[in-house]
Amino acid sequence: MDQAISVTICLNGAAASTSYVTSFSTGGKIEGNIAISPNRNTRFHDMEIFLLGDEYTTVNHAKTHRRFLNVQYPIQDHSLPSPRVLEKDQKYQIPFSFTVADHLPMSACDHETAGHAVRKAHLRPPPSFGDAMVAGYGGKLRDDFAPRECRIVYTIQFNLRRSHLASGQISTIFTDFFKLRIKPSTPAEPYPNQSPIRCIQDSPFYGKQTILPGRAKSTLGTLSMAIEEPTSFRLPLHDPTSLISSSIRINVVYTAESELIFPQFRSVGGHLTSTTVFTNTCHTDFPEKKKNSLGRALNYHVEQFPPFTNSFSSLDWRQESESNRYSATLLVPITLPRQNLIPTFHTCLISRIYHLHIKVVVKDGAPFEFKIPAHIFAREDPSHLPSYDATVGLDQDQEILLPETTAWLTSDV
Ligand SMILES: [Zn+2]
Repeated sequence: MDQAISVTICLNGAAASTSYVTSFSTGGKIEGNIAISPNRNTRFHDMEIFLLGDEYTTVNHAKTHRRFLNVQYPIQDHSLPSPRVLEKDQKYQIPFSFTVADHLPMSACDHETAGHAVRKAHLRPPPSFGDAMVAGYGGKLRDDFAPRECRIVYTIQFNLRRSHLASGQISTIFTDFFKLRIKPSTPAEPYPNQSPIRCIQDSPFYGKQTILPGRAKSTLGTLSMAIEEPTSFRLPLHDPTSLISSSIRINVVYTAESELIFPQFRSVGGHLTSTTVFTNTCHTDFPEKKKNSLGRALNYHVEQFPPFTNSFSSLDWRQESESNRYSATLLVPITLPRQNLIPTFHTCLISRIYHLHIKVVVKDGAPFEFKIPAHIFAREDPSHLPSYDATVGLDQDQEILLPETTAWLTSDV
């Protein structure tokens, strides 16, 4: 590498000397300059500016790298000096601009998949992940709870190239890069790998049930609970400080066996877990956790977030057609911890998913414990680009191959 020049890659509006890392979300423009200061006259052939997206995993000490994004900014000939010599003590500024779109090029996922939904999920741009230099949002570095085996990194790369005088062969004589944080909007709908709502030791219809004891070894009744649907949480893309809340509905059914005494509820609480599943091949389907014979995690990492507990008074029971069955709805408000929660995503190598673990404690009965999928998504920016699905007809189940040039990050000349 020729160190006869110094190069600074600056983003517009960000001071080069600070460690502040600008965030970009879907629809955002990544604009800046390559500032070049030659220390001696430097002949060159051309310059290249790329926006790159790379993911890295380590499985059993084997490192895997996959480049899912490789977009070149077209530098116009007239913006380069003629003849192609960078003169000593001159300063050169080469501007660049990329726009963050909501899809990757089809070439980003070229392996076999179990279904259309998997490919579609892999063609969403993933968030920056697992890199302390760019973790967080809004200028603060925060732990994003990525396992050390996983990283997703976006960079601007600058190359200065020269052709060999005799052979004409072109080679890179200087390269530099600059990391970005990208936090794209993600689909509001849960991915279809959401397992059906069940609870631990579930019975098929109502989830779990417990027998409540009455006096003198008699049975008071049977209490059943089931959670209605997956829970979604929306992360605001441009507001890192607000609390994120949602709620889950638990359908409760009580069948009285003798005298009618409704069960007494003590509390409902739980916690959120994140699971990151990774591979060194490619996930052909939405991945599953694997353990070895000793029960150790082979391909995943689970992080548990701080627990919450709600106490509540009584339920509003409704009698079902003059039977001894009574039903009620238990609404459980859930507020996400103030942590750097990365939205649910799936790439060829890495998946991040969430679960809510809920525990309902009832007097005299075994506690009800549920583990349900939780979908965390980042809110669409109002100015986001037209849907990729609509553009290429993916929503009509057609696989249309795009030429390499229609990359998800379009270059603004
Ligand atoms: Zn893929």
